[in-house]
Amino acid sequence: METEETFKLFESKRLLIGEQIPYSFLLEVLARSAIMFMVTLVILRMSGKRGIKQLSIFELAILISLGSAAGDPMFYQEVGLLPAIAVLCVVIMLYKCLTYLSGKFESIEKFVEGKAIKLIEEGRILQHVLKKESLAYDELFSQLRQHSVSHLGQIKTAYLETSGDLSIYYFADQQTDAGLPILPELYDHSVNDFNGSVYACKLCGNTAKLHRIEVCTVCAGQEWVKAIKTTRIS
Ligand SMILES: [Zn+2]
Repeated sequence: METEETFKLFESKRLLIGEQIPYSFLLEVLARSAIMFMVTLVILRMSGKRGIKQLSIFELAILISLGSAAGDPMFYQEVGLLPAIAVLCVVIMLYKCLTYLSGKFESIEKFVEGKAIKLIEEGRILQHVLKKESLAYDELFSQLRQHSVSHLGQIKTAYLETSGDLSIYYFADQQTDAGLPILPELYDHSVNDFNGSVYACKLCGNTAKLHRIEVCTVCAGQEWVKAIKTTRIS
């Protein structure tokens, strides 16, 4: 081990290749990387997945384990290829096993993958769920906007999938009611003067005709914005 006195900051050889490692090791890194890359490719193909757009927590755990096991032997002199390949095999076997068991037992599936959760019902945000899933309003609204939603009155139900994606079921145009606008230029304008038109609670999306400020009957929120009733054009 280096002591404080002999340690030289930014010493070029240590910085570039590492202490006690000859530059010729770079050649071996080439071969190691090629081998580990091919092995990882084969193992991932064996997992049976076709491609990954959004990761569930389960898949993320698999990828982190695989990534670390595949990467280390590419450039650590002291890490051999075989232990890493063994790790890859074990991880992918666990993945196969858990996937199989998830198909058989619902409790295991719930633990491994989580399950879809209802976030919006009849144009209203189920706040307690939002809190529990530690999802922020701007995050939710941002996702809704990406689905061309402009206000919650357009949404019959929305589910948060285990991948973090939203699945949305819409009201037909003629059934679309006034709802909470989620466009920032409208949402950010809390109303102080009420004139009997329809307003939406900023916390839950509940709508009401108000002549003066009132407490939301659903969530006890006290901030309102003017509701809008546009239909969805996607
Ligand atoms: Zn409310």
